[in-house]
Parts: sequence; structure tokens; C-alpha cells
Amino acid sequence: MEVNKEQQSNRIPAMEGETPALPAGPVDWPTADPAIREALLAAWSDGSWGTYHGVWIDRLTERLSRLHAREYVLPCSSGTYAVEAALRGVGVKSGDEVVLAGYDFPGNFRAIEQLDARPVLIDIAADSWSLDPSLLDRVWSPSVRAVIVSHLHGALARVETIEAWCRAREIALVEDACQVPGAEIGDRLAGSFGDVSVLSFGGSKLLTAGRGGALLTGREDVFQRAKIHGHRGNDAFPLSQLQAAVLLPQLDALEQRNRQRLAAVEFFARRGVSWSSLTRHVSRASEERSSFYKLGWKYTGEMQGGPTRGMFLQSLQAEGLAIDSGFRGFSQRSDRRCRRPVPLPESELAAHATVLLHHPLLLADEVTLERAAEAFDKVHAAFFSQPAN
Ligand SMILES: *Cc1c(COP(=O)(O)O)cnc(C)c1O
Repeated sequence: MEVNKEQQSNRIPAMEGETPALPAGPVDWPTADPAIREALLAAWSDGSWGTYHGVWIDRLTERLSRLHAREYVLPCSSGTYAVEAALRGVGVKSGDEVVLAGYDFPGNFRAIEQLDARPVLIDIAADSWSLDPSLLDRVWSPSVRAVIVSHLHGALARVETIEAWCRAREIALVEDACQVPGAEIGDRLAGSFGDVSVLSFGGSKLLTAGRGGALLTGREDVFQRAKIHGHRGNDAFPLSQLQAAVLLPQLDALEQRNRQRLAAVEFFARRGVSWSSLTRHVSRASEERSSFYKLGWKYTGEMQGGPTRGMFLQSLQAEGLAIDSGFRGFSQRSDRRCRRPVPLPESELAAHATVLLHHPLLLADEVTLERAAEAFDKVHAAFFSQPAN
């Protein structure tokens, strides 16, 4: 592929007054779902919006428990807090080590530090954004007490393998399923692996209550320790009745919406074969039953002599897309803060190259999806010229 230097320096599509591919800009989130209005009215009518406990929290707890085949569910104030509570629940103590991917949600690193434990960085696999199980033996030490694994950007972690490794060594596994509610792995749902798993109901997430999260576990001791930590005379990190009320109809719709999002992801996979700067090395089997909070790619255009990732993203944003860079990763963190037993090339690549398309677009109609694809076409045509055939 040749880079069209002249076009690259002279024009950024849609930035010079052309009509953007999506003139109305990014698709709204949350959507104006009538089922949410009903839930809010119901919580108003029976006064439950103003109560500490009650039927909405009970129903949500029961529902999440049944769905994930986990006996104990602790609804709480955020996914970030749920990860910390999960680590406390499995008994991580000051001085313990916790294995974490070199590319992950920043709050997970902080959660480990919050317990005065030490992150041990492991690289991610080349075909996902999740830790590579084949490296676990190399990062192990007698101080390792737990492993955190996250499913990120629509790619599912090899969590069955990781679970087996942890079980054989009596190391706790915390599964972060914040980005993939309803995703299926074998005959189980994401959020049902390891000793304890975590969901988020944050304002941008697939299941949203503005804020909120949940811890799920089959172990009563884990549940009790997590619960006791959050208890300060009263529950200090709760999910409210009103939040639970708006989550229930979203759980009803989750499977159908996940299917619709997957169809849009497949559309982008077909349309995207000519987007030479974007790669998505995710196995079909993993993608087929996933759920998509973000649709992730690795941007390799800069290595091909094209614009920086920032410039590339700006051009797509100018076309009306909600697309951004991924996490910054932990490979630059100081040795004082973490142990780094293996090289982290894939984590570094992910930190530099990941671009993420936000999920609301994935529920849009065909016309909008086609326009979004045209935005990618347009930006590619501007920055990269195809070799003559
Ligand atoms: C969003 C997210 C969290 C934290 O959830 P909040 O509810 O926003 O605190 C944790 N892990 C991952 C992978 C996330 O995407």
C-alpha cells in the first residue's frame, strides 16, 4: 500500500467543511427505551424509589444469580469497587501478589494497590486484549494469591484455561466481565468463571444505571468477606432500588440486543476488509457469542507510513463517529509499583494501537451503519491510496 502524502498533508476529511458521513454525530446513549420509563413509573407509584431495600434489588439479585449460576450476588456502587471487593473477598492481603495483564482497565491496577498488594504484569495474547494463559507459569511466584482476567473490546479471554491453571495451584481467579454481559463461553456465561466475577452498570456500559456494579460468587466465604468490608454500620457502597429497577428491563432485552450488536460487528467485518490500517485478530469462535461494549481494532496505519493514531481518530470523529483510543496499559509503570517477570510486547502494541468504536452505533439502523462504514472508507481513501491494479 502506498501512502498518499499529498492528501495526507492537505486534507482531513470532514474537517474542511464537507458534510460528515454522520451529520447528527454519535448515536445517543442511553436510548429512549419505553421499558425504562415504565420501570421508573413503577418505582415512583409504589414509593420503592425512596427505600433502602426492597423488591427491585431482590429481583435483580435473584435474576443475576440465576443467569450466571452463582449463588451469591452483591449489588454495589460500581464495577471498580466490585473488583476491589472481589480481591478482598478471596482474601488478598498486604504483600500478596496479584497477576494482571499489562493492558487492562486502569482501575484494576488501582484495586490491587488499594489492598497494599502488588500487581504482577503478564502479557496479553496476540488474538485478544486478555492475558495469555501460556505465560502464567512464567509469572508465578509463591506470593501470587490471585489472578484478574478481563474480557475486553468484544474479544473473550481464554478463561476456561486460566480457571484450570488457577484451580490446580489454589490461586483465586477474579473474572472482570464488565464489558461483556451476556457473552457465552462454552455453555457458560461470562461472569460465571473463577472464584468471583464482576459486572459494571456504569453510564456507558451495555447494562446501565448511570453507576453501579455487582459481584457474583459461588463461595459464601468470599461473599461474606466482601459484604463485611462494604459495611460501615450501613452499606457504604450500595446499588439503589431505583438503579435496580432500570436494570431489570435491560436484562430482559440483553440477549436480543447482543444479537443485534453482533450482526453490526459482522457487517463491519465484511465492509472493513479494505480498511488496510485496521486489524482485528480475534478468533471467529470467540467473537460469535461475544457481546460488544466496544468494537476494538489495532491501528497499524502509522507503521505503514500513514497518520498518527490521534490524527486518524480525529478524522473519524469529525465524520460523526464515537471512536477513541484504548487503555494506556501498564508497561510504563515503575518497578516500585509492580513486578514484570515477562516482556510485554503485545500489551505495548495494544496500548499504542488500539482504537475502539463505542457500542451505541451497533444498535443503529442499516442506513446509519452504512454511513459509518463510508466514514471509514473516506478516511482510508484520504490517507492511504490503494495500489493500482
Ligand atoms: C467499566 C469497567 C470497569 C469498572 O466499572 P465502573 O462501573 O465504571 O466502575 C472495570 N473493568 C472493566 C474492564 C471496565 O470496562
